[in-house]
Amino acid sequence: MGGMHGNEQLGIALVRLLKEQPILGVQTVIGNPRAVKAKKRFTESDLNRSFGGQKGTYETRRAQRLAKLAASFDVVLDFHNTLTPQNNAAFVGVGCKPTLFKLCKQFGLRNCVEATYDCINKYCLNTISIEISVNDTLDDASYWYQKVAALAEIGIAADKGDVAVFRFTRRVTWQEKEANEYKGWVPFQPLSIADQKEVGLEGTVVPIFIGSTLTEYYATLLRKERTQ
Ligand SMILES: [Zn+2]
Repeated sequence: MGGMHGNEQLGIALVRLLKEQPILGVQTVIGNPRAVKAKKRFTESDLNRSFGGQKGTYETRRAQRLAKLAASFDVVLDFHNTLTPQNNAAFVGVGCKPTLFKLCKQFGLRNCVEATYDCINKYCLNTISIEISVNDTLDDASYWYQKVAALAEIGIAADKGDVAVFRFTRRVTWQEKEANEYKGWVPFQPLSIADQKEVGLEGTVVPIFIGSTLTEYYATLLRKERTQ
């Protein structure tokens, strides 16, 4: 699936590539065709926040169709881009198919977030969302075409190494960042002891989506749950 968000190009390019050079056993879908046409994240409501059975928008109806479609596949790969750098990660639902953690490793993704908001992952436990920073080396449809081809041909590779699994805790506003003079944060790297005290969270806490100028949030904080 590409184009769940209409302005994120990687998945759209990958779907195009797969249509030009089909792979046996692989089907493609554009998540949000209207948003892709409009080159916008969404038209009426964020599709990846519309899987909770809400009613009333184009995207909520689309979410219902996609959830039904996803249920008929072994696994669904859902591609996204973020403008924030060094933020490559996988997103899955809590209690997802264990295969999805193996896929993380196979795809070169070492960080995995268990998403709990009304995204596709929460309701489709066979769906892994792949979030790639724009202009990263993995922001390349041909890289993913090769990965999909290998998955279709060979299946799940030997289970090597670890994936760090995280969950959302809360977000940090730009105001809060200025007030506390947070700096030097790196995606998926633990906060300093002082900053962690300031954000008021226990455990191993890491920031992601750092410095997004498109939202009121400076960063999102995750807590490390385990390695898998
Ligand atoms: Zn997205």
